[in-house]
This record gives sequence, C-alpha cells and structure tokens, in this order.
Amino acid sequence: MYPPKFGYVRVSSLEEAVNILNSDENAKVLAGGQSLMPLLKLRLIKPSYLVDINRVPNLSYINIERDRIRIGALARHHQFEINKELWSIYPAIPETAMQIGDPQVRNLGTMAGSLAHADPAADWPATLIAFRASITALGPSGERVIPIDDFFTGPFSTALGKGEVIKEIVISRVEGNVKSAYVKLERKAGDFAVVGVAVMLKLGGDGSIEDASIGITAAGPKPFRAREAEKALIGRKPTSDVIEDAAEKAMRESNPISDIRGSSDYKRYMVKVITKRAINKALSR
Ligand SMILES: Cc1cc2nc3c(=O)[nH]c(=O)nc-3n(C[C@H](O)[C@H](O)[C@H](O)COP(=O)(O)OP(=O)(O)OC[C@H]3O[C@@H](n4cnc5c(N)ncnc54)[C@H](O)[C@@H]3O)c2cc1C
Repeated sequence: MYPPKFGYVRVSSLEEAVNILNSDENAKVLAGGQSLMPLLKLRLIKPSYLVDINRVPNLSYINIERDRIRIGALARHHQFEINKELWSIYPAIPETAMQIGDPQVRNLGTMAGSLAHADPAADWPATLIAFRASITALGPSGERVIPIDDFFTGPFSTALGKGEVIKEIVISRVEGNVKSAYVKLERKAGDFAVVGVAVMLKLGGDGSIEDASIGITAAGPKPFRAREAEKALIGRKPTSDVIEDAAEKAMRESNPISDIRGSSDYKRYMVKVITKRAINKALSR
C-alpha cells in the first residue's frame, strides 16, 4: 500500500525537533524508519509531518566510559553488533543487536527508535532492562531522566510526554565479575521473538551470585524485569537446582498472549526454558 500524504521536515538539532513536535502533536520523529515506514505503508498511522533527525550531527555515538556507557539517539543496531569492546565487557548488548531483523534493518534501525516504538516483542528492551539503563529525554522544559523500569507503559506506549524525544540511553557500568547473555527464541531468522530473555549476573569471589538482573520480552503487555527470579539467584551458588528455581519463577512472572508465534501456555513454558539457557550462557562466558 502507498502511505498517506504527510509533510517532511529535516531538522539540524534535537531542540528543533522538540519545537515542532510540541507545536504539532500529529508530527512524528523519523529515525531509521524501520518501524515507522511499515506503519505508514499499512496506513496504521497518519502523521502530519515526519521530523527527520538523521542529519542531526553527533548523535550516532556509543561512548564506553569508565563508569557508564552513553548511547546517542542515532546509534544503529549494526554499530553494537560490530563493537569489539562491548563484546568483551557486556556481550549481551551486541548479541541482542545481531538478532534483530536482517542486515538491512540493522543498518538503519536505532536503539532509541526501538525503545520509542515500544513493541512488546522488541529485543532491546529486555537487554536494557537487564542492564538497568536509563533514558534521557529532551522536551520543551529541558532534559529528564527516565529509568527503564518506568519507561514502558503498555504495548506501543511509553512515558515520553508531548514534544519529548529520546536524546540518549545510559547504562551504568557494574564493577566486578559481570556475565551477561541475551537468548532469543524465534520461529525463523529475522523474526520477532517468541520469547527473549536477557541476563546480567555479578559473581562474587566464591562463585556465588552477588547481583542478578533479568529482562524479558514478548511475554507480557510490556517487557519486564523478573524480580522474583532475580531474588532466587542472589546470594546463592548457581547450581542447576537454583537456576531451575529462578527459571520457574520467571515463568510465573510472565503473562504472554496467544498469537501467530504460539499459544500463551507454550510461550510461558518457553520463558522457563529460555531463562535457563540465558543464565547458563552468561555463566559459561
Ligand atoms: C523486517 C523487519 C524486521 C524487524 N525485526 C525486528 C526484530 O527481530 N526485533 C526487534 O526488536 N525489532 C525488529 N524490527 C524493528 C526495528 O528494530 C526498528 O529499527 C526499530 O523498532 C525502530 O527503530 P528506527 O530507528 O527504525 O525507528 P523509526 O521507525 O524511525 O521510528 C519508530 C518510532 O519511534 C519514534 N522515534 C524514533 N526515534 C525517536 C527518538 N529519538 N525520540 C522519540 N521518538 C523516536 C518514531 O517517531 C516512531 O514512532 C524489525 C523491523 C523490520 C522492518
């Protein structure tokens, strides 16, 4: 289908984008276009203007600093996939990127666009929840920081307010022996997740789990942190019984819907299987 008629503005700063979005609530940011364009072509949205931020300078950065990682609004999925430093410190991050769609999608799509789109089956949210990221939004009254746990408010809906854009995503670095993994169950390469689980574990000197964070996607109306599963791991040695118990708890915390990717019962059971795999994969690194 052809998209409906819309206006097009190419901005040279995020402030300019905010001004337009604030004065016209039917205007929409255009980043990689990998979610927006299909919606336009299906005529599921009819924006007045597309506000193209692709020419805003200095927005494609992935800055790995001593205590945090700062990610600009135009960092594309592919940039994470090929980042050797991320593979060595937090492999779950590039591992997530490499499982999104296909190369064309990964060359254009952005992490910020994926978060703003808030598809309940998107991959990035699980991993950013596991890494306890925060989102810096720029709006008419300046900047504010939104913890990722408060960012998703439901399917395709976020805490971004009128005129607000995502400027940056920040991941605070965790000191010590940190292990991470993202495991995605998909029906075929390039598909959205049936279920996706991201795990970040911090191990103590005696091999016990000092801290754990688990983000799950495609298993509820919005991605979530499996807090009961985390509690089942923290302070324990990761024996098979402990991992089994945590995975069982993650399954109980999930609430997937039945759709073309499987029944809710099947997906719930897969949350258990994939959580177990993600924990074991992280530990094996
Ligand atoms: C064939 C195909 C397969 C895919 N497979 C997967 C998959 O397996 N897993 C997965 O997670 N995703 C998948 N996607 C989606 C893809 O990851 C998109 O890149 C991503 O969802 C949106 O990023 P974008 O930069 O393309 O955003 P756009 O499409 O440009 O925008 C998406 C939405 O976010 C808003 N937006 C964008 N940037 C900002 C910003 N900085 N501030 C505020 N709002 C903003 C836009 O206004 C729009 O509402 C797939 C897409 C396609 C076409």
